[in-house]
Amino acid sequence: MTKLVRYVCRASGHQQLSLFDAQAPWSPNPLTLREGAWAYCPIGAQEAHDWEQIADRLIDDLREETERTISAAQSGGSA
Ligand SMILES: [Zn+2]
Repeated sequence: MTKLVRYVCRASGHQQLSLFDAQAPWSPNPLTLREGAWAYCPIGAQEAHDWEQIADRLIDDLREETERTISAAQSGGSA
C-alpha cells in the first residue's frame, strides 16, 4: 500500500539517515501517525520533532528526496 505523508520533521538534529543501532533504546521508525496522517522523520527519533505540514506526498518520493538532500549535505557541505 502506498502511503501519503503530510508532516515532515525539520528538527536540525533529525536530518540524518536512520542507523539501526542495536544499542539504541528505541528502534528507528521514520514513519509515525500524527493526527490521522503519516509523519516522516529522517532519523526516526521518538520525540523532539519539529513538524512541518506539507501537501500530501508519496512516502517513497519524499524519502528518496530527503536521503538525497542529507547525502549531499554530508558529502559536500564543507568541501
Ligand atoms: Zn524528528
